[in-house]
Amino acid sequence: MREVYLDYNATTPVDPRVVDVMLTFLKYYYHNPSSLYSRSKEVRKAVESSREKIAKLINANPDEIIFTSGGSEADNQALKGVAFYLQKKGKHIITSSIEHHAVLHTCKFLEKMGFEITYLPVDRYGIVDPEDLKKAIKPETTLISIMMANNEIGTIEPIKELAEVAHDHGVLFHTDAVQAVGKIPVDVKELDVDLLSLSAHKFYGPKGVGALYIKKGVRLHPLIHGGSQEKKLRAGTENVAGIVGAGKAAEIAMAEMKDEAEKIKPLRDWLEKEIKEKIPEVIVNGHPEKRLFNTLNICVRYIEGEGMLALLDMHGISASSGSACTSSSLEPSHVLLAIGLPHEIAHGSLRFSFGKYNTAEDVNKVVEVLPEIVEKLRAVSPYGREHGFGDYQK
Ligand SMILES: *Cc1c(COP(=O)(O)O)cnc(C)c1O
Repeated sequence: MREVYLDYNATTPVDPRVVDVMLTFLKYYYHNPSSLYSRSKEVRKAVESSREKIAKLINANPDEIIFTSGGSEADNQALKGVAFYLQKKGKHIITSSIEHHAVLHTCKFLEKMGFEITYLPVDRYGIVDPEDLKKAIKPETTLISIMMANNEIGTIEPIKELAEVAHDHGVLFHTDAVQAVGKIPVDVKELDVDLLSLSAHKFYGPKGVGALYIKKGVRLHPLIHGGSQEKKLRAGTENVAGIVGAGKAAEIAMAEMKDEAEKIKPLRDWLEKEIKEKIPEVIVNGHPEKRLFNTLNICVRYIEGEGMLALLDMHGISASSGSACTSSSLEPSHVLLAIGLPHEIAHGSLRFSFGKYNTAEDVNKVVEVLPEIVEKLRAVSPYGREHGFGDYQK
């Protein structure tokens, strides 16, 4: 059966052009970039060229980029790195209630270490209000971390305004831009952020490679101690093939991102329209306009996301019912609760996230099977039956 992959926010397939350069490095350029012979220097050059490509994608300088093992490590590095470096100045950090767990669970850890964290609320679209941020800042606040685009509902935050509020109060600003980089234009100078996390496997690069942008002059403690790689901020022999792959993916994103968006958005919009027309009592989550062009998150009333996922999977359709990290737990998504949905509705969530290899045929397939799946599940769900679904089938 043909797979219909609609889970690009969880991870993307690796672009074949990325695979090619990675294979070359795995096979022939295995040398340690820190060694002193000429082969090593070539490998070093490739790592630095990748750094330039990543920097270019977000309009940073190459010396403001450190490579990490992914988005989670970049988030951990930013939060713990600044929190501990500035703890004599203060121990208060502000974030939002809809962050990825890489930020939220890091904050929980910092709470255990004696830091105070404020979790800002969001409106029903998932937007953080700069006024709320202003009110939450205290003299002890050292860092504010708000994501650029939400992985579950796709809402895009007003990062420039939020960073301005932070800077008006002399506070550093970090953004988890893992879902934004490679999809939409991201310019660290225009946004004026101090730290920014990104991850290659969200834009057709390999898993296990990411980067943290650290604005010139911003100081923080390293997470990993050891050798003096990455300006002593990230010890360990570089993941050369991964880094080269990330650079290639950045170069491709830079050149093709705009065309991809133009191709993908109509597919997402079409699926949204068809679902609204063919399935009664569906809620579309996220901001109507300030939303990633590839993300469609819905709540189907009276049934559970997991049930729909399992039946979609039987038709070869891969989607998600919230964040990958919460999908094994029975708690509904913290993001959907934060935008004000009651538990019973949040349980019925389904996320389709599109990418560059999707086609009209993929949308057709979902439109063909989803209404039936929903009808079936509602007919056997006590909630569904209470609301009149299923009766006509008797
Ligand atoms: C995927 C994701 C992460 C984690 O990135 P990894 O590279 O998988 O560690 C962090 N934040 C957001 C918003 C994400 O979507």
